[in-house]
Amino acid sequence: MVDFIGNRAIYKLLNESLKKGTLAHAYIFTGPDGIGKKLLALHLAKSINCLSAKDGLSFCNKCVSCEKIESGSHPDVQLIKPDGKVFKIGQVREIIRDIYYLPFEGNKRVFILEDAHTMNEEAANSLLKTLEEPPASSMLILLTNNLYALLPTVRSGSQVLKFNPIPENEIERYLVEKQNVEPEKARKAAHLAEGSLGTAITFDDELFHEGQKWAVVVLQSMVSSDDSALFNQIKEAVKDEKKFEFYVKILVSLLRDLSIIGIFEDEKRILHKELLAELYDLRKRISEKEIQSIFSDIEDLYMKKTLNLKLDLVLQNIILKHRVQILREVI
Ligand SMILES: [Zn+2]
Repeated sequence: MVDFIGNRAIYKLLNESLKKGTLAHAYIFTGPDGIGKKLLALHLAKSINCLSAKDGLSFCNKCVSCEKIESGSHPDVQLIKPDGKVFKIGQVREIIRDIYYLPFEGNKRVFILEDAHTMNEEAANSLLKTLEEPPASSMLILLTNNLYALLPTVRSGSQVLKFNPIPENEIERYLVEKQNVEPEKARKAAHLAEGSLGTAITFDDELFHEGQKWAVVVLQSMVSSDDSALFNQIKEAVKDEKKFEFYVKILVSLLRDLSIIGIFEDEKRILHKELLAELYDLRKRISEKEIQSIFSDIEDLYMKKTLNLKLDLVLQNIILKHRVQILREVI
């Protein structure tokens, strides 16, 4: 069996449906990015079409059919992305036409649509009839990270399977055992990935170290009044939205470590072990109450992301506010 981690309930359900021959004709796989939706859709397509398949979700990954699916050249298994930012009506019409062809060489035609929520109403409506009366020789799998952006009629015409984030320890184990990632790095990658194996696998060591330094400076600036380089650094980080989000996650994980130091006094649980000296120093100067308060402000920062506010200014205000509070507490 090929690796698949997390979401056992969905895995089992599809496995049973394959065994009993009760697969739905249309599925929606929904959940955050990087948690295995596409992978499981491809596993399903391989299991259906593998030349030496046994029962259930099982395939050899060696036969011509498995190889063709893997390389994207199987005529009966199509992985379709939106052409540009959205699925256009023409693209969907083409899929609808193709869906009525009998399999060319496999057992069943499988159409996997990535980012299915990007279908506009016209495109989605044209798909509806096919969802209601699909040919038995084809199946549709819609992948999305935004279920409610799909038309309700599309949702109700398909079996919706909700994928959950993968538990941190499963991701960590996978990285160490299957990807030969060094254990400390695997711990960090798994923690910051928030349940997404895809994110954990593409963990960028260098960016992480930069983010660590950045987050330490932010926290240190709350306990001192030296701003010289800080606000420029914040401005710089905010320019790249993805990077900034990653940095803020690191900042949150540092706050978590600070809290652990205070409450458990247990270094084993600490994520940023290489920063112990800095963490202990910070912990001496920031109370638990204050840490919790910074936590909630940073969470608020995430919320404000959607409000189009200047995040560097918001973060600056958080720093200044807590600096005042911390200094007051010390006095
Ligand atoms: Zn095979």
